[in-house]
Amino acid sequence: MKLARFSTGEASELGVVVGETVVPLATDPGLPTDMIALIERWDELAGEVRALSERGRDAVPLAQARLLAPLVRPSKIFAIGLNYADHVAESGLETPKHQLWFAKAPGTVAGPVDGVEIPRVSTKIDYEVELVAVIGKRGRHISVEDAPGYVFGFCVGNDVSVRDWQTQTAQWTLGKSFDTHGPIGPYITTTEDLGDPHHLAIRSIVNGEVRQSSNTRHLIFNVWDQIAHLSKAMTLEPGDLIFTGTPGGVGLAMNPPQFLGVGDVVRCEIEQLGAIENRMVAE
Ligand code: ZN
Repeated sequence: MKLARFSTGEASELGVVVGETVVPLATDPGLPTDMIALIERWDELAGEVRALSERGRDAVPLAQARLLAPLVRPSKIFAIGLNYADHVAESGLETPKHQLWFAKAPGTVAGPVDGVEIPRVSTKIDYEVELVAVIGKRGRHISVEDAPGYVFGFCVGNDVSVRDWQTQTAQWTLGKSFDTHGPIGPYITTTEDLGDPHHLAIRSIVNGEVRQSSNTRHLIFNVWDQIAHLSKAMTLEPGDLIFTGTPGGVGLAMNPPQFLGVGDVVRCEIEQLGAIENRMVAE
């Protein structure tokens, strides 16, 4: 299933994307109105949600709805650096022996068509298309073999990066944590629909020009390795987001570097997961 948050006016609600429509969950008052609450109770509610999506009552054409970030306020967002060989090469860095993790603040979450801020304090804004895993179950010390069972689904993300802030210190977190710098969406595709996420074409396109084009089969540490490693350190919670790395082609590595400015449009797309398209706006 493709689970979305959307709005047709002021309020946001949850729905299932079916073809070119979104079927609201609100027709069943027993269902949660918050995505993380829905994820927490998914084993119990999946059948009900599927039946409701098949009935299609009060379906709204996608053209009349605005898709929002599929979830807000995750307990944490972690992202792995240097996890595609071509991106490592263009960065002029060594392939990491250990998984290189940094945090993105929960305030980075933005929707699939929301504006992404060009902050006042930098002109070195860059894009990074990434496969994003959405955690489904609470867990610690999750094995590689068990990891697929802890993922609720996947979506497309853009790990927007403020390159001067990222690189002026050894620690990347601040440069990766500016408000709106983690747009995700357009919806969450559940793992039971997607299956193995390691064979999906992944691309970013800036103002119509393809900049990154790869496949998730080229991940150095795959999604399951990542979950096993992260969960050695911390308990993963339903709704937590894991940005799984970006392929080569970022603006920083172009000659000369090409950074984003107000009015630029970045489209990030992944096979079977849809696309997000964000316009850069002034802070
Ligand atoms: Zn990244």
